[in-house]
Amino acid sequence: ALYYDSDCSSAPLAGKTIVFVGYGNQGRAQALNLRDTIQSENISPAPRIIVANNKDSYASKAEEDGFGFQTDWAATAAEADILFLLVPDQVQPKLFNESLAPTLKKTACVVVASGYNVFYQFLHVPTSNDIVMVAPRMIGTSVRSRYESNQGFPCFVSVEQDGTGHAKEVALAVCKGVGATKGGVIESSAKEETLMDLFAEQAIWPQVIATFREAYGTLKKLGCSDEALVHELWLSKEPAEVFEKCADDGFISQLRYHSSVSQYGQLKGSMEVDTGALKKEYQRVAEQRILNGAFAKEFMALDTEGPGVDKKLDELYDEVNHSELAEGEARVRARLGLN
Ligand code: NDP
Repeated sequence: ALYYDSDCSSAPLAGKTIVFVGYGNQGRAQALNLRDTIQSENISPAPRIIVANNKDSYASKAEEDGFGFQTDWAATAAEADILFLLVPDQVQPKLFNESLAPTLKKTACVVVASGYNVFYQFLHVPTSNDIVMVAPRMIGTSVRSRYESNQGFPCFVSVEQDGTGHAKEVALAVCKGVGATKGGVIESSAKEETLMDLFAEQAIWPQVIATFREAYGTLKKLGCSDEALVHELWLSKEPAEVFEKCADDGFISQLRYHSSVSQYGQLKGSMEVDTGALKKEYQRVAEQRILNGAFAKEFMALDTEGPGVDKKLDELYDEVNHSELAEGEARVRARLGLN
């Protein structure tokens, strides 16, 4: 189902205390949008917005934007009727379970912007509470800029726990409040969102990275230069334009913008790819990495038992940067004076 402005009422927000835990990418954009909606819709009594954050640059931004901030997690959670949990996913379980949940009102609604911690049951939310997912498919700056230009943004919504019996009305009111319903909000679930999100990250994009890496190596061996390869494969932004046309005109229809040679090559080639191994790999990632929780367990253990997420990422960057593609690109960018 799709929900638009006219399907949603902001009444469930009236008189509520709405706490934003985190004032980063999503926190700032959604808090600013909500504040503007409260004004433009003249919601009465006006909801109160509180930003909760450690005292640092994010908090200063909240202050600059006129929200002020609270640093006492327990006291702030105790005031919340609606609590947006907008800190990084790997931070949420400890922060929520240890510092927010103990004082949370029994009827408060917890809003998450991704399904991850809900699907894997890392958040311990009492059954009397509501949990809803309002998950924009956009980075925070676009969530804000599209709101400012009176557009909505693609967003998934779901009710994950209906402790009060009113979670759906609250979820849709939140969607309207943050400005998502102008473009239509898509009914989803934490499971679906997590599966698709992690699948894109762990199955689709790794294939894209590996495809470009192998293509680079193959063509380099056949005598193509670094300059030509880097420009041909991505620096020209042709692939970015193709994806834009996929969204504008259709995934397959956009092919008609290409030359006949290109159309024939792409259509014929796509039918000839041996997809057997790919299907197996996709099934493996979906079932044995994502749905069974193996990836989440491994990722969460990086901080608790392993080297830490940042150190592990540095190690992986080191490894991946030792490819012909990465080294060739570094040479070209240096020669062109690009950073
Ligand atoms: P950010 O990385 O922008 O979050 C930064 C905020 O989290 C800051 O307020 C920061 O404050 C706070 N924070 C970080 N570490 C801690 C900590 N240990 N304790 C307390 N506060 C902490 O997060 P995003 O906005 O990117 O993500 C928030 C949610 O939105 C996630 O669930 C994410 O999956 C989802 N989402 C994100 C999108 C995006 O484009 N980024 C798109 C759609 C959904 P400080 O450092 O001062 O403590």
